[in-house]
Amino acid sequence: MRKIIIAGNWKMHKTIGEAIELANNLKRLLNEIDSIDIVICPVYTSLSEVSDVVTNSNIKLGAQDMYWEKQGAFTGEVSGYMIKDTGALYVIIGHSERRIYFNETNQTVNKKVKAALESGLIPIMCVGEKLEEREKGITFDIVKSHVEEGLNGIPKEDAERIIIAYEPVWAIGTGKTATSAQAQEVHKYIRSLLVKLYDQDVASKIRIQYGGSVKPENTKELLMQSDIDGALVGGASLDANSFFQIVKNSIGVK
Ligand code: PEP
Repeated sequence: MRKIIIAGNWKMHKTIGEAIELANNLKRLLNEIDSIDIVICPVYTSLSEVSDVVTNSNIKLGAQDMYWEKQGAFTGEVSGYMIKDTGALYVIIGHSERRIYFNETNQTVNKKVKAALESGLIPIMCVGEKLEEREKGITFDIVKSHVEEGLNGIPKEDAERIIIAYEPVWAIGTGKTATSAQAQEVHKYIRSLLVKLYDQDVASKIRIQYGGSVKPENTKELLMQSDIDGALVGGASLDANSFFQIVKNSIGVK
């Protein structure tokens, strides 16, 4: 049985003070929940302070990106070791906003996933098609290349630790959620790719989150699908109450 994982991607929002306030509110609201994994991903500048708030709580910390080198002359970059040093345990890699605005490719995603694992972080590797790709009928081809090239050279012992987030780009921040059937179809396909890349056992352990306009109202329906193991939440994670409702609606679904 895969444990449900709900992660909040705060994107480029919240000053340090605002991040501390949101983390404190979440800590209070989510206090007694231990049946699912809960992760929040603030901006780099708030990681340490938010880490202080959530240490010893049921909320785990994640970053939104990282660089693959450990240290050196890479102005503006932050390494996996530095993220781990803040107390974070997770890192989002290959989010569509990074692929679109910052030229991330499957190759850079692959380097980052490997470096994250080496640093002791759990990568949340994002995959998903754009609207025009879905309309052209190449959703599976795009997702296949994201999954296969993103995981290239990663042995099965490491693969089991990775979380994959299927995030159709047309559903991110648009209010348009994929229907549960559309999401399940792609999640099932991703799991079949994992069986081919690794084996049935590994594929059945890897958690695949759905992301794209997840809200309290659609959480249950999405998570009821057999291959949907959690959610990566953007906009709705910026409000303590709506993130709390999403987490609450995830309890007991599986
Ligand atoms: C995201 O940024 O990963 C995301 C899914 O955003 P939203 O929930 O706002 O669509």
